[in-house]
Amino acid sequence: VQTNLGYRVQFNSAIGPYKGGLRFHKAVNPSMLKFLGFEQTFKNALTTLPMGGAKGGSDFDPTGKSNAEIMRFCQAFMLELWHNIGVDTDVPAGDVGVGGREIGFLNGMYQKLARKYHTGVLTGKGETWGGSILRPEATGFGALYFVQHMLHLAGKKLEGAKIAISGFGNVAWGASKKATELGAKVIAISGPDGVVTIPNGMNEEMIDYMLELRASNRNIVAPFAEKFAGTTFTPGKKAWSVKCDIALPCAFQNELNGEDAQHLIDNNVTCVGEISNMGCTPEAIDLFIDNKIMYAPGKAVNAGGVATSGLEMSQNAMHLSWSAAEVDEKLHAIMHGIHAQCVKYGTEPDGYINYVKGANIAGFMKVAHAMMGQGII
Ligand code: GLU
Repeated sequence: VQTNLGYRVQFNSAIGPYKGGLRFHKAVNPSMLKFLGFEQTFKNALTTLPMGGAKGGSDFDPTGKSNAEIMRFCQAFMLELWHNIGVDTDVPAGDVGVGGREIGFLNGMYQKLARKYHTGVLTGKGETWGGSILRPEATGFGALYFVQHMLHLAGKKLEGAKIAISGFGNVAWGASKKATELGAKVIAISGPDGVVTIPNGMNEEMIDYMLELRASNRNIVAPFAEKFAGTTFTPGKKAWSVKCDIALPCAFQNELNGEDAQHLIDNNVTCVGEISNMGCTPEAIDLFIDNKIMYAPGKAVNAGGVATSGLEMSQNAMHLSWSAAEVDEKLHAIMHGIHAQCVKYGTEPDGYINYVKGANIAGFMKVAHAMMGQGII
């Protein structure tokens, strides 16, 4: 018998039902889920969709577990969670360690327990059972649309840019896919075990292989270099040790610290998109801002994932599904809108755009107005 603890933090419902991912990782604790729920509240507000903020998860470690063990854990977790969620109350989704496979097991168990077959109680579902087309790609795709806007405003281009990415999960995969499609070169990906450098940039086969790495439940990136000739694995090093134009943290909180930021700055990085939630430490963020580097915080640049969850909720409520082109167009518009809000609230007198300030003020104002408008309850 193995015991794990599970949590759901319902942070704010002023704008809509509680909404946010579930994280399965050995380091999960209530304080981590509270900061993630807090951030989620403002992120969801920035999307303009009617979603409150929440986060949940467990200290269950999926590393080395079989599919059957993962299924049994998801079912045990849902046995307690199902009382607290619902289409109009709280709609969980995936996060670190929870992807399409886990959402499937969780959704199946919810339906069995609740005897309710509405498709909208979780998002990130498979396409044949209520999921939105492009939801798996959405966090990475949306982030690259946001980065494109940042570069465009600064008179720079994504084509030909060298990008370093951390992680090889769903988010890193989507970001690599869109970056490559838009003509950039992904020259490094990293895992907890080290970094793989890819001098010619990722190709389609390599991007597809990221999915296999994630599904293997081993949480190591070294096999990537064994599979692809011309790539090199360096143990113990982070993606930020590689000289790049754009750095995209896509893995975990605090994965890019002050020392890493200084190294990137010394190597002339031009843009950093924090696609993981709170991937950069406060020291790293201060260094980027002091050095006038284009820096986008997670709540703005990674909002495409939850935004597409919001689009999935709309489709479920209407009992229909939109085409990839329709979803992509809406995702584009949402990321454009978030970028515009950051520019509106974050432009400093000298013209530097402080995206941290912009995203915080825009998100906060919306939540504060919604709370004050509805009185003391
Ligand atoms: N876990 C993702 C996030 O941090 C997605 C949450 C969702 O789709 O509800 O935004």
